[in-house]
Amino acid sequence: MSKKASSVSINTKELIKDFNLPGGEVVNVLTGVDMKIKRGEFIAIMGPSGSGKSTLLNILSTLESITSGEVLVAGINLSETSYKENLEIRRTKTSVVFQNFALIPYLTAKENVKLPMKLRKVPELEAEQKAIEYLESVGLYVRMDHLPEELSGGEQQRVAIARALAHNPAIIFADEPTGNLDTHIGKEIILLFKQLTQEKKITVIMVTHDSENAKEADKILILQKGNLIQEQSKKVAKKTHKKEGNK
Ligand code: ADP
Ligand code: MG
Repeated sequence: MSKKASSVSINTKELIKDFNLPGGEVVNVLTGVDMKIKRGEFIAIMGPSGSGKSTLLNILSTLESITSGEVLVAGINLSETSYKENLEIRRTKTSVVFQNFALIPYLTAKENVKLPMKLRKVPELEAEQKAIEYLESVGLYVRMDHLPEELSGGEQQRVAIARALAHNPAIIFADEPTGNLDTHIGKEIILLFKQLTQEKKITVIMVTHDSENAKEADKILILQKGNLIQEQSKKVAKKTHKKEGNK
C-alpha cells in the first residue's frame, strides 16, 4: 500500500445491499450503486427517508457489510478486509460525524478530541498539541475545557468535527450533521466542511435533507430506488447561466 496517493477517494461498482429480515423477507436497499468520488471533493447525498442513505454511509465507513459488488475506500477493497482491518481503517483513514454529535459526556472538548489519538498511541504531548490545533481550526479554542453539556449544539458539532480531524482522515462521513441544529448554525457547519475539503483536501461525504446546504457541495447525488443519480453539476449549471447572461 505504499503506492502514490490516488486521486480517487471512493469507487463503488454495482454495489448491492440486501437486508434479510427474520421472517425470510429480503429488503433490497441498494440495487447497484456506482460512484466515483475524487480526493478533496465535498459530496452531498440526498434522498427520501428510508432510501438507504445511512446504509450507504455505513458501508463506506466499514460499519456495515456489502451483499455484492465492489467498494474501494482510500484505495482499500472493503470486500477483502477483516474486522480488525476495518477497525484500523476507521482509526486512521476515515471518520464519522453524527447528527447527535456522539461526544463522550464526561470528557471535556479537548479530551474528546484527544481520545482517537490516545487509541492510536500518539504520545501525550503531541496529542495535547494536536487537539488544541484541531479545536482552534474549528473555532473552539476558548471552549476546550468545557464538557459537552456546557456547549451549544453547534459548538458540540464543532468538537465532533475536531475529533474527526484527530483521526487524520482522508475521508469524513457525516450523516445529517446539521439535523439537530438551527438553520444558520447548520450553515456554519457546512461551510466548515467545505473549508476542510478545500484547505486540507479531505473528502467529505455528507447526507443532508437540506437542499440549501447541499448546494454548498461540489456535487449532489440523489439516492432513488436503490441507485444514485447525480444532479446536474453546479459548475455546468453556472457556466450555462453565465453564457445566457452574456448574450
Ligand atoms: P435513510 O438513511 O435513507 O433514511 P436507511 O439506510 O436508514 O435509510 O434505511 C434504508 C432501508 O433499509 C429502510 O427500509 C430500513 O428499514 C432498512 N434497514 C436499515 N437497516 C436495516 C437493518 N439492520 N435490518 C433490516 N433493515 C434495515
Ligand atoms: Mg438515515
